Amino acid sequence: MFARQVVKSPPKSARRCANKRSPLHMRSSAHGIGNQAVLRQANPAPTQTGAAAGPMTAQVLTWGDFAAVPNKINGMSANTSWTWHFDGTNFTVAFDPGGSWSVVADQTPDLLRHEQYHLNLAVLVANKANAAQAAGTLTGAALVSAFKTTLAGLESSYDSDTQHGTNARMQTMWENDIDAGVPSFPFP
Ligand SMILES: [Zn+2]
Repeated sequence: MFARQVVKSPPKSARRCANKRSPLHMRSSAHGIGNQAVLRQANPAPTQTGAAAGPMTAQVLTWGDFAAVPNKINGMSANTSWTWHFDGTNFTVAFDPGGSWSVVADQTPDLLRHEQYHLNLAVLVANKANAAQAAGTLTGAALVSAFKTTLAGLESSYDSDTQHGTNARMQTMWENDIDAGVPSFPFP
């Protein structure tokens, strides 16, 4: 159902989704060093649109891209948000500064790396989804569903395995896997 909608009406340059309930626009959130459950934001999100020309690469983040907050929120030191959009052919993923924040006192290079790889992972899954679409192995609603399921599962595993980046060995392993295209995590 929604696949047909986006094919007919791909947003042009709107930075905010007109349809707040559209399942094709979603903010995903992930979190940095913290010792509580992962916070998930279900808010509708601004989006960026545009067909991808080849694989996307993730924006390189600095702490300046994150809103500074004075204290941990729900036990978390940082939050990285991104938006994704599917125009009927391609997924795009964009860092969302409006939903990203960090506690200034907790800004370490290690935490920034952890946050960066949240975004890298989201971009990787989008690239895999685009490849599946191009190959015709998955299209339309099935593709969107696979994208959402795969993204949510991998992002959750990333945080649980790395203990939000505090397990250095696991953090390195995930970084290597993501850089290598996560061959052990096929899409879908
Ligand atoms: Zn995290």
